[in-house]
Amino acid sequence: MSNLALVHKLEFQKHLTPEAHPESPERLAAIDEALHRSELIQELSRLEPSQAELDDLTSVHVQSYIEDLEEKGKRASEQKGLLQLDSDTWMSPESYSTAKLAAGAGVEAVRGVLKSGYTRSFVIVRPPGHHALPDQPMGFCLFNNVAIAARHAQRVYGLKRVMIIDWDVHHGNGTQDMFYNDPSVLFVSFHQFPFWPPNIGWYTEDGNGDGQGYNVNIPLPAGTGDRGYLAAWDAIVKPLCLEYKPELIFLSAGFDAHQADPLGQQQISTSGYFLLANRLAEMAENVNAPVVGFLEGGYNTRSLADSVVATIKVLNTADKSQRENIQPFAGIYGGELPAQTKDRSQHMVDERIKEIKKHMGRYWKCLR
Ligand SMILES: [Zn+2]
Repeated sequence: MSNLALVHKLEFQKHLTPEAHPESPERLAAIDEALHRSELIQELSRLEPSQAELDDLTSVHVQSYIEDLEEKGKRASEQKGLLQLDSDTWMSPESYSTAKLAAGAGVEAVRGVLKSGYTRSFVIVRPPGHHALPDQPMGFCLFNNVAIAARHAQRVYGLKRVMIIDWDVHHGNGTQDMFYNDPSVLFVSFHQFPFWPPNIGWYTEDGNGDGQGYNVNIPLPAGTGDRGYLAAWDAIVKPLCLEYKPELIFLSAGFDAHQADPLGQQQISTSGYFLLANRLAEMAENVNAPVVGFLEGGYNTRSLADSVVATIKVLNTADKSQRENIQPFAGIYGGELPAQTKDRSQHMVDERIKEIKKHMGRYWKCLR
């Protein structure tokens, strides 16, 4: 039995988007190819997902939205074509069932770590989830996979404290919205700022009511690279986790903050993702929490595939010294091993980290 169990099926390529749309089935085909080339696929256990139950979907989405999406899915089937939901979100004939399967994959991944004895699991699915709102699709997302999984861990397994870390280049606005009043979910989002979605994600958005202090935004200027992300992790994410002591850590793993990504302007290298994954693994061990990762964005198929493989390799390795010696580039695409990237906005990032610590320090001893 491997340390990490993978939830990954070809069915997730059945959600179609228009030609040249960045969120394409080719993303998963590239990851699949890289997993095979790296031979990682042979080392990993697999979990078989089924479509999410209505109870799971309604734990974060309103019922009328789910019905509306089902209706639109039927319409796309009847028309045998694509249906546009907003400026960049689409449904194809099999999108509704694929989205339910993606949400169900997260539920299965939670079961994998809380019931079946895996330390970690990773869900490689489309459509992604972190922009989906309780009553609205958004930013390529239909159902909020990570939020559904977090609620499942609480509802079915009785967990009291879960942490969601979102390192996608975009703000995890859907996830923030769903847990904004809730201290039982500590949400931390790294994102390029200002960026899309507009007018959301500043660090003063820190939660509401009982949830105040449990929503932590890390808005980083365009041009932030490995150094800035790692500095923010060490100064904010790690101390928060050690103080909060989550029973389960979720990762919304977007890889669109990569220097090669066509949508974001951040500068993380594949080595940078490897180092972030190492930080995550060690931190989770410190609090004895399992980790469940979800694929979110990432639109350069090569850098996406390499970064996913590097991250999963790290999370699958239980031994710390072995983990640190993994080559993040397994020669999957035969590329050169680029040096870690330089941040263009080093001074600004350091100032931003100080500001965030000062603001959030009113709720957290570890940040004072
Ligand atoms: Zn993104």
